[in-house]
Amino acid sequence: MVFKKEVKLMRMVDIITKKRDGHALNDAEIRFFVKSYTEGTIPDYQASALLMAIVFKGMTKNEIVALTDAMEHSGDVVDLSSIKGVKVDKHSTGGVGDKTSLVLGPLVASCGAKLAKMSGRGLGHTGGTLDKMEAIPEMSIAISGERFLKQVQEIGMAIVGQTGDLVPADKKLYALRDVTGTVESIPLIASSIMSKKLASGSETILLDVKFGSGAFMKTIEDARELAETMVSIGDGLNRDTRAILTDMEQPLGMAVGNALEVKEAIETLKGHGPRDLVELCLKAGAIMLEQAKIVKTEEEGRKLLEEKIANGEAFEKLCQFVEAQGGDVSYIRHPEKFEISKIVKDVISLDDGFIAKIDSLEIGESAMRLGAGRATMQDVIDMSSGIVLNKKVGDKVKKGDILCTIHTNVNKFEDIIDDVRKAFKISPTKIEVPPIVHDYIL
Ligand code: URA
Repeated sequence: MVFKKEVKLMRMVDIITKKRDGHALNDAEIRFFVKSYTEGTIPDYQASALLMAIVFKGMTKNEIVALTDAMEHSGDVVDLSSIKGVKVDKHSTGGVGDKTSLVLGPLVASCGAKLAKMSGRGLGHTGGTLDKMEAIPEMSIAISGERFLKQVQEIGMAIVGQTGDLVPADKKLYALRDVTGTVESIPLIASSIMSKKLASGSETILLDVKFGSGAFMKTIEDARELAETMVSIGDGLNRDTRAILTDMEQPLGMAVGNALEVKEAIETLKGHGPRDLVELCLKAGAIMLEQAKIVKTEEEGRKLLEEKIANGEAFEKLCQFVEAQGGDVSYIRHPEKFEISKIVKDVISLDDGFIAKIDSLEIGESAMRLGAGRATMQDVIDMSSGIVLNKKVGDKVKKGDILCTIHTNVNKFEDIIDDVRKAFKISPTKIEVPPIVHDYIL
């Protein structure tokens, strides 16, 4: 007797109703959804229905790991195995004044770690590393795969824009989420970020999850949940993944705006960085060195990083990196060469007291209106423009003191000045200086 094998075809409607009714999907169902949607055999309306069901019903850890894995393997995956040593990566969930990669990259590379990094551009009030790199004349963010690997092997670091067809599932799903009200879901955000990080090939990942007015996650509780979810995805897929929770209730450092931030990164590598940026880079850098097994403890890592700043090796690494990617290194050695905006104007305090808050969202949006960012992907950035803070949270301020300085080539800036001033909340009572790193999750 011949038994006919029963092949039950998977149907998207069954997957949607299963999730709608609060049940966990199995690996096969998740893989079917990701593959079919990427190939275009599932219509947007069914994918949207499933995404909305996920927003409401959530996902188990196993489901999130399976979703991330399916997304990671939906396209090319970078192979870094030809590079000797531990390949490290860090990812920030985005903020205002976040020039960390330009400091951390040279710092950890000068200690022997290998940073093979793919970065993004800024949009809206948040900046992007690629735009900051392009503030350095002639600097290229698009180099061939072969040159990328060679550069990381030889000098320990490279930062480029995304190449190849990495995580096409995320490109399609993110575009759909953006227009269907399904961005705000921890399982969907975590799998989206982690699938891209995993596909870029590094062995270790450090996540800088920011919280506060200028961040994607507004509260520390949400940031913690996102961080824990991403760390557990990394664990589930055997990649050393750790996270720090950092403050974005005020911009990071003093400078916001592309060339202004590059200059601050240079100063930081020379040992003259602002307190919060230095602290964040030392903490993150020490963890990355521990992940790379270059040091045994975080304390040892911090000491090594401080040495590399003090002896000039970290700064020299930045010069090597800029040179290797075609940038004009004379700007790094002589930052006074960076073009200055036509209008440079101080914003003055109208009150006495202590700085209680500097609304990062307001500062980021104002910097964008001054020319430093894009409202749409098509906008062209004015590299010289932005805002340089003169006060940080906790500082004492007197009426007439400079709160910050705006740099712009935009003629109508008076409204922007008012908004920038309003971003500084002044309290009559003393304010504690907040820590930059609030927690470490591993
Ligand atoms: N950033 C991402 O890459 N994906 C998300 O879903 C949200 C923020």
